[in-house]
Amino acid sequence: MRVSLTLHGIPVSCGIAIGRAYLIAPAALDVDHYLIEADQIDAEIDRFHAAQAAVVAELAELRDDLAADAPSEMGAFIDVHTMILNDAMLVQETIDLIRTRRYNVEWALAEQLEILGGYFDDIEDEYLRERKADIEQVVERLLKALAGAPTAASLVVHTAVSNGHNEMIVVAHDIAPADMLQFKTQAFKGFVTDLGGRTSHTAIVARSLGIPASVGVQQASVLIRQNDLIIVDGDHGIVIVDPAPIVLEEYSYRQSEKLLEQRKLQRLKFSPTQALCGTKIDLCANIELPEDAQVAVEAGAMGVGLFRTEFLFMNHKHQLPEEEEQFEAYKRAIELMNGKPVTIRTIDVGADKPLDSMSGGEGYETAPNPALGLRAIRWSLSEPQMFITQLRAILRASAFGPTKILIPMLAHAQEIDQTLDLIREAERQLDEAGIAYDRKIQVGAMIEIPAAAIAVRLFLSRLDFLSIGTNDLIQYTLAIDRADNSVAHLYDPLHPAVLNLIAFTLREAKRAGVPMSVCGEMAGDPSATRLLLGLGLTEFSMHPSQLLVVKQEILRSNLKAFEKPVADVLAAYEPAELQAALTALQKA
Ligand code: PEP
Ligand code: MG
Repeated sequence: MRVSLTLHGIPVSCGIAIGRAYLIAPAALDVDHYLIEADQIDAEIDRFHAAQAAVVAELAELRDDLAADAPSEMGAFIDVHTMILNDAMLVQETIDLIRTRRYNVEWALAEQLEILGGYFDDIEDEYLRERKADIEQVVERLLKALAGAPTAASLVVHTAVSNGHNEMIVVAHDIAPADMLQFKTQAFKGFVTDLGGRTSHTAIVARSLGIPASVGVQQASVLIRQNDLIIVDGDHGIVIVDPAPIVLEEYSYRQSEKLLEQRKLQRLKFSPTQALCGTKIDLCANIELPEDAQVAVEAGAMGVGLFRTEFLFMNHKHQLPEEEEQFEAYKRAIELMNGKPVTIRTIDVGADKPLDSMSGGEGYETAPNPALGLRAIRWSLSEPQMFITQLRAILRASAFGPTKILIPMLAHAQEIDQTLDLIREAERQLDEAGIAYDRKIQVGAMIEIPAAAIAVRLFLSRLDFLSIGTNDLIQYTLAIDRADNSVAHLYDPLHPAVLNLIAFTLREAKRAGVPMSVCGEMAGDPSATRLLLGLGLTEFSMHPSQLLVVKQEILRSNLKAFEKPVADVLAAYEPAELQAALTALQKA
């Protein structure tokens, strides 16, 4: 038995999870991965054998078709691939993964490929080392054969035995935001990744799941082994591997205390969101998928303040969803909100949310700095056909309930004008076809580039509402990549430059009478609630899981008492001064 190990990372989603490590190899993320039920094991192994037989036949056909004068290496390569297809290291080990870990066959194959690849990397002999490519090609053929075959009927619901700490905690080197979505349907209890920053989109999705997560836990996926007992302290970013009994007991106690607190918060669900001084506040939800709207309603959200539609576009290998598919998704969210407004943000891809189809486009992968490149509205304006398709789908959905359009990453007057022109064009097309939509649909912009905040007047005169995206506003103001854990300690929402930009933007919007919300992660952070209230914010949008804890803070707030400490916060440039003003604000 090894000694307990404590790893430190960045806390991104509160709470404590205790469970078994569930390691996910990078290659495994490129294929569907889900756990199968015990009674599906045989069927899954049959799928594997069927794919194996299909590839054997395919190779035999290839051999038959070889021209008489084909180079002899061609035949040799087919023989090698046929041998690999029957090799126990591939076949038996894959079957073992299906049996023992209950991986679906695609996942088991990808995992086994990863393991075998590791052996080959260590081989000195170049010729032998290159045989790794043969195994990859065989696995690729198998995966292709499987793609045409039916998969196990249902996604996992792992049977967790809570008192035995058998819940699963995902441990990975990194998880792309799109892959993170797959976990929405699965019963994992926590997340640990080697990479990532507090507002990386992976962290955001983890937070939306409402389960404890730590990212930037360097080497976690190397130091933690499959099935290790681990504790994830999502409040402090700590991960404890193989904890001593006394530590386990302490964390189990803290975990039950937290659950109790969460249950108590449920009582606030139906009370109006009003500060002690009487000011009414709107709390809205951020969602990634249409079904999340149900969770938003259940949490008592007044509406959806941010629907990140790019998640609909991910996992669509090399093509974008058609207008009809998008329309159905937007309509579904609108209908689930049952009369409450849904703010649909147009696609925001790029930076840490690339699309598969982008790799073929204008050298996206080689963009020197994707976060400063063709991202969000810049990409949409460069692909007008795609953009009009999305706009048409949103407009059509607006006939089914209150809807607003939100545009990400605008900075220039001409971008705003171009965008508005394209919206008019989409409306014109619908008019021509006699298709209904909300003719008074409101169009708003994200304020998430410092230039947009400073020149907010450009926006106030052109748009119906604004929403501050603090995640990007902080990233671009401080020049700190929000997904890069090596500079995560410098990603500071309380930097005087950030606070003064937010304050200025809110003031200008108020003066112009244009509604402004905050939909970045700061809106869902209860430690920032008083500050945002004191800066005059009356509309917050956040993950449903954060709604009640922020509401609790609002119910305890007297905005009048915040005036002086908030003025002090904005005037403070020295860290000690700032800290003193913030402490005074928390006590006000
Ligand atoms: C933001 O930047 O604050 C925001 C809400 O958008 P996203 O996190 O999707 O970039
Ligand atoms: Mg943003």
